[in-house]
Amino acid sequence: MINQRMYELGSEPSAIRELFAYGQARKAEIGEDNVFDFSIGNPSVPAPEAVKRAILDVMEQPPAQVHGYTPSQGAPSVRAAVAASLNRRFDTSYEGANIYMTCGAAASLSICFNAVGNPGDEFIVISPYFPEYKVWIENAGCNCIEVPARRDDFQMNIEAIEGAITPKTKAIVINSPNNPVGSVYPECDLIELANALRRKQDEFGTTIYIIADEPYREIVYGNVRVPFVPPIYENTLVCYSYSKSLSLPGERIGYILVPNTMPDWEHTFNAVCGAGRALGFVCAPSLLQYVIERCVDEPSDVEAYAKNREALYGGLTKLGYECVAPQGAFYLWVRALEPDAQAFAEAAKAHELLLVPSNSFGVEGWLRVSYCVAHETIVNSMPAFAELMREYQT
Ligand code: PLP
Repeated sequence: MINQRMYELGSEPSAIRELFAYGQARKAEIGEDNVFDFSIGNPSVPAPEAVKRAILDVMEQPPAQVHGYTPSQGAPSVRAAVAASLNRRFDTSYEGANIYMTCGAAASLSICFNAVGNPGDEFIVISPYFPEYKVWIENAGCNCIEVPARRDDFQMNIEAIEGAITPKTKAIVINSPNNPVGSVYPECDLIELANALRRKQDEFGTTIYIIADEPYREIVYGNVRVPFVPPIYENTLVCYSYSKSLSLPGERIGYILVPNTMPDWEHTFNAVCGAGRALGFVCAPSLLQYVIERCVDEPSDVEAYAKNREALYGGLTKLGYECVAPQGAFYLWVRALEPDAQAFAEAAKAHELLLVPSNSFGVEGWLRVSYCVAHETIVNSMPAFAELMREYQT
């Protein structure tokens, strides 16, 4: 007998991936330009030139180094470069010893869930949330506890979070800038959350972590600032990825920060190393680690996303759709025109609009529209969105 749970995970693809696959097939059938595929978060902006130059430069190094194993935590020079970059940006005093290089945020998160979670522990997620959290939390033998975001602006409902904390709560996962909503959590709310967590730690005599999932940290619009969480709350683990910021999702590179301001941080860092080992990660891809060492301060190119955001948010709002104005990431959260988001997404499909129903993210009645697409896709999709609106008005 094979593992039934694994069979189910493998044979029931995620709704997002299923829709993406449908889009690929449909494009082959009716032509690329006739399908408005807003399904997946694959960056549409190319990786910076600096990445290409860094790859070529690394390839000039001895092959045994470029392609060899690094220590499981990452190459010392790479870890030191990442720590120094954080110090420059956030006025911290981290060292390479605080950094564990990973194969992207997926690895960072699953390592953290395993590192701090004992079987039966609880991890709080804020719904709507990135669906893979539940898969990774449950795979660590723990329970995923969903706490709804505020319904007016989809920010954190701190009272509800505090109310959901039990002696078994191991961590709360926060994702800002947020997928799927595009919200950024303000500093005042993070301070309030930190105070609530400290109250509960004192009440239960436990340690409660914040796991800050930050693949979209640099993708923000206007004057929006993403507060850095470790100086606000001492028991914070940061899960970072270069998938979105440097448009490298297929290359699998990121890191975990275990800040030296966390009490007994070496202990937690060792658990991170142990979880990486137990999950079979061995080390992050060596070539990409050395590329990151060279590109650690490379800025993200958000101009194209900003232009798409304006066209999509402006266009849909004008047509009468209710949308949450995104502050960051590259997703627009749009209210479905009927309570059943899945039925609405099916109706949209008839207009060649591929939108992800909110059920995938643990809530009803909304859709996620990924705007990391060609600008023309947004412009050309507006008549289809208008037609869909008319269909529901008659
Ligand atoms: N967390 C969030 C919120 C995401 O949106 C994604 C990818 O879309 C991930 C984690 C996983 O990212 P990575 O490609 O770095 O594994």
